[in-house]
Amino acid sequence: MRMKHLQRWVACGLVMLFGAVAQTDFPLPTGFIVPVPGAHFSTQARQLPGAPRPYRNGVHQGFDFYNGFVGVPVHYGDPVVAVALGTVIRLDRQHVEMTREQWLALASAQQALPTTSPQALDAFRGRQVWLDHGKGVVSRYAHLSGVADGLSVGDQVTAGTVVGFIGNSGTLDGANGTKLGAHLHFELWLGEHYLGQDLSPEQTLALVAQVFTGPAPEPMPAVAVSAEPEPGLAVQVAAFQEAARAQALADRLRQAGLDSYLYQPAGSSLTRVRIRVSSRSQADEVLARLASEFNLKGLIIQNP
Ligand SMILES: [Zn+2]
Repeated sequence: MRMKHLQRWVACGLVMLFGAVAQTDFPLPTGFIVPVPGAHFSTQARQLPGAPRPYRNGVHQGFDFYNGFVGVPVHYGDPVVAVALGTVIRLDRQHVEMTREQWLALASAQQALPTTSPQALDAFRGRQVWLDHGKGVVSRYAHLSGVADGLSVGDQVTAGTVVGFIGNSGTLDGANGTKLGAHLHFELWLGEHYLGQDLSPEQTLALVAQVFTGPAPEPMPAVAVSAEPEPGLAVQVAAFQEAARAQALADRLRQAGLDSYLYQPAGSSLTRVRIRVSSRSQADEVLARLASEFNLKGLIIQNP
């Protein structure tokens, strides 16, 4: 199975590379733009197709765009755009979020199955927009917090049209009623197969480079260390003598969707790991998450 898909994709890729005409069901499209304006695709294996998703006993079928991994900030409510000319074939304007109990029950029910059921996959994608680009190519935009005003099924959109907004619908954070963990989950389907199916991260990213224009993915930049305290609220998670340990913790927090940064005042040997928050209630949510997911205690910091 794995080789069959690989050969199909490699064959499609070669067709595009050499401009040859060949009998393939779904030649790779080209000239698509990245669905988060200004962003590049993440190079993190766990944010690419094929990554295991133990909570639902299955595999990731798309590309995640999280803050801290794609070259531009990604926050709840930010716009998501069409990757190419296409027709809206699905638009979940009336999406109703699962309760926490429903979410946990659905996830645990999947544990008894050989892999995640299509119905559960759909529920875990939350609020979605799907676009049909012709020739069997469909793009899916998931976990949205909202869909664009005035957009309807059947409408034609062009590359760059805002179709929805970044959110966390369909995730446990969304079921918990928070805005934490917001990211775009994006899938590109060619017929019955998703881009990256049965491929390694390197093979997937090579195909991404053929399909999408725009900035190439770069290796993860180190989390910047600021010497000045940032104004407003933050949650301080820990302080380390060794900067590398602070960096590693900041990376882990970012991977979980928390907006971490490093702060080291001039003259101090300690590198502090902090998380930006916009309100006292968001700070409380972050504290609860630090305790439950990371076994860490945080401290709320208010800077002028
Ligand atoms: Zn995802």
